[in-house]
Amino acid sequence: KAKHSGRQTYAFYTQELTLQARQRVELGAALRQALELGELRLHYQPIIDLASGRVLGVESLVRWQHPGLGLVPPNVFIPVAEESGLIAAIDSWVLAQACRQMRAWQQAGIHLDFIAVNVSSRLFSRGELDQYVKDVLEETGLQPRYLELEVTESAVMDNPDNAQSLLHRLCSLGVRLSIDDFGTGYSSLLRLKNLPVHKLKIDQGFVAGLPEDDDDAAITRAVIALAHSLGLTVVAEGIETPEQAIFLRRHGCGLGQGYWFGRPAPAELLDWRPRPLPKVVYNLQQSR
Ligand code: C2E
Ligand code: MG
Ligand code: MG
Ligand code: MG
Repeated sequence: KAKHSGRQTYAFYTQELTLQARQRVELGAALRQALELGELRLHYQPIIDLASGRVLGVESLVRWQHPGLGLVPPNVFIPVAEESGLIAAIDSWVLAQACRQMRAWQQAGIHLDFIAVNVSSRLFSRGELDQYVKDVLEETGLQPRYLELEVTESAVMDNPDNAQSLLHRLCSLGVRLSIDDFGTGYSSLLRLKNLPVHKLKIDQGFVAGLPEDDDDAAITRAVIALAHSLGLTVVAEGIETPEQAIFLRRHGCGLGQGYWFGRPAPAELLDWRPRPLPKVVYNLQQSR
């Protein structure tokens, strides 16, 4: 049965980028219901310290389990939510749920450095985000330093002045900020230097070509160097092979995230054990 609905989802969404207007409206209506019916779920993906293999934190990733359509991926429904104005309700739910989960882990003796939450560019550009974050932290009792907000590079650069003042207000709440999908937008270095961010996440598009692709390797090294010179932590996304992990660690990337370390999963299925890291680098070259 699961297989069947999976295939349906696939057939329905292979054209995901060209959803027809009518489909969007239908999906929007279904999404509104989904919020009420509690069909949204949060999954969490571990983020690993590449030096020790320890799980340092998690990223929260929203999932929509629709009874008829199966699992609808966020790349499909987040844009629909942004168009239909539902994104504020979704991101609010995600933020509160993530903070509650982090508290629950702390109470269960699982201590992480951070829980990361994605913030839509729509919500980000509206500016009242800081007040909402403040309220959620108070309600859930989570200390601000454990919450990390991920905003995409393009969300920041679309409206740099607004973004800069909002990021400063968020930063003064004590939450941490990271720039997601770094390398896919056009950041001015001057702008970046003046933003109160703590992390850069190297987009998985660059990690995918590592270590063979010379351009991806050069860009990755440059982003790591840039981050270090600005005093920021670097996270690499989309690590699928040990070769990628080795390359990144060797070039000074501190943190990593990807299927090789663990797929996003419901809270109760997460594996907290340290990940074994490949040790001998020259073996890889010999085995090729
Ligand atoms: P993102 O924030 O850049 O999240 C990383 C995406 O990469 C996730 O896709 C994750 O499942 C996927 N990923 C992780 N490791 C690997 C890997 O090794 N290989 C590959 N190929 N992919 C990997 P997901 O969960 O489908 O989310 C897609 C995007 O949807 C996210 O990109 C984010 O922009 C957005 N999104 C997800 N959850 C939320 C949310 O709660 N709120 C908002 N506003 N956006 C969200
Ligand atoms: Mg993210
Ligand atoms: Mg990303
Ligand atoms: Mg992305």
